[in-house]
Amino acid sequence: MIVIGGGIAGLTAAALLSREGLEVTLLEAHHQVGGCAGTFRRGPWTFDVGATQVAGLEPGGSHERLLRHFGLPLPEAEILDPGCVVDLCDGTEPIPLWHDPERWAAERQRQFPGSDLFWRLCDAIHSSNWAFAGKDPIVTPRSLWDLRQLIGALQLPTLASGLLAGLSMLDLLRLCGCADDSRLRRFLDLQLKLYSQEPADRTAALYGATVLNMAQAPLGLWHLQGSMQVLSDQLVEAIEGAGGTILRRHRATGLRPSSQGWDVDVQPRNSRPKTLQTDDVVSSLPPQCLPDLIADHVLPAHYRRRLNALPEPSGALVLYGAVRREALPDHCPGHLQRGADHPGSLFVSISREGDGRAPAGQATLIASLFTPTADWCSLEEQTYQRHKHERFEAIHTALSDWLKLQPQDWLHMEMATPRGFAGWTGRPRGMVGGLGQHPSRFGPFGLAGRTPLPRLWLCGDSIHPGEGTAGVSLSALNACRQLLANRGTDLQLSG
Ligand SMILES: Cc1cc2nc3c(=O)[nH]c(=O)nc-3n(C[C@H](O)[C@H](O)[C@H](O)COP(=O)(O)OP(=O)(O)OC[C@H]3O[C@@H](n4cnc5c(N)ncnc54)[C@H](O)[C@@H]3O)c2cc1C
Repeated sequence: MIVIGGGIAGLTAAALLSREGLEVTLLEAHHQVGGCAGTFRRGPWTFDVGATQVAGLEPGGSHERLLRHFGLPLPEAEILDPGCVVDLCDGTEPIPLWHDPERWAAERQRQFPGSDLFWRLCDAIHSSNWAFAGKDPIVTPRSLWDLRQLIGALQLPTLASGLLAGLSMLDLLRLCGCADDSRLRRFLDLQLKLYSQEPADRTAALYGATVLNMAQAPLGLWHLQGSMQVLSDQLVEAIEGAGGTILRRHRATGLRPSSQGWDVDVQPRNSRPKTLQTDDVVSSLPPQCLPDLIADHVLPAHYRRRLNALPEPSGALVLYGAVRREALPDHCPGHLQRGADHPGSLFVSISREGDGRAPAGQATLIASLFTPTADWCSLEEQTYQRHKHERFEAIHTALSDWLKLQPQDWLHMEMATPRGFAGWTGRPRGMVGGLGQHPSRFGPFGLAGRTPLPRLWLCGDSIHPGEGTAGVSLSALNACRQLLANRGTDLQLSG
């Protein structure tokens, strides 16, 4: 088996297949695994490249189930309470997303009077979605086996909430009579954009209702002790412990069908290209990479058209900073969202004292902002640097004003643009975050893990259930279940 890409999706797939006794080789272009959930070091500081919060560590959550299956302990982590504090920057009180569901219900009632019906509807949709998801359905069926998995997971509440497929979060607001609550709408736009790449009027109701419940018990968001790399390290242990091989600095450059399955062309960083033969390929790369990896005449025309017509995901601008801890506001939460138009909505993650990311008395501060990839990748060098500098200044100024930080409080600052993400993760034009969760692309309408090409399987943040480390782990589980079923084996997570 060859797995392409050593982000959380590819690592999870390789760990699952290795554990089934298959001979697995994972190809990772970078010198380090982890991809968007990796880390880098600068002097005494450790920065999480992209992901900073982890979902799915609760009992029955995707990371928890998988780690239990691999016989590995849960990573040391702290529950985030609040999961985030959202500042709408309109002079009103910021909104903390409490972990305790009752406290959160009271908070949202106070913050958004008259919206109770909307939240109760979201809770109901979420409960039915969660029960459905727990049965590991294949929601984009492309074979009879897939269809059986889907039908086997359906229950009455799922069928009822299925009637809402095609609706957006704005439709839910309208149904509940609170579409005119501009403050609630702004809050939803900000939060949904983080998870679905889309605002309320373009986020599928079935997806949005679920992500709005991510911070509350019995689910939750966690901050990992050490760094985000801990998650990848555990998966590496699972792969290597089961006899799998990880080839770092090995970039897949081409896929060709063979009598056995696939020939995979590989370019190692410091040696000559080679070709590996394999039965199956699991690719965790964005599907937009496939037309470059597979010759035109091999990709079925309808599939190539679909891939070429995929909407361009966002890119990210990320400022990686270090600050003096005592300069931060008292009781500063670990995760904040700032919803101002200029320079755009910022999501900020601040390290905790003693969490392994900064020396005592200091904190890392990571602020990210969505940006269209097109704005960055085609610029000539001088314009690019000027553009980057302007955006950097705007983000830095906004953060300093918001958190009342003086120039001497900043100990380090640097910024990544989509160009940096393209280099770090190999993602075309530095796109991050998958395809977005518009009603026309959510669930059954999304791109399937089972491709029209025999023995080529997809996982990662463009495949259901979408972005986030917990989401891409599930996409990897589904791809492996499909692959193994194709070989006559039924993969069930232990426990
Ligand atoms: C700024 C930002 C903030 C985020 N915040 C959060 C958060 O707080 N919580 C959360 O859960 N998620 C968050 N996410 C999303 C999360 O990080 C991703 O959804 C997830 O990590 C994607 O994993 P993946 O395995 O699908 O892809 P990737 O992480 O992109 O992994 C793909 C891997 O493939 C490798 N590769 C690329 N091309 C090749 C090739 N040709 N051959 C071999 N290898 C190749 C890359 O080097 C990379 O390691 C964030 C993302 C970003 C960018």
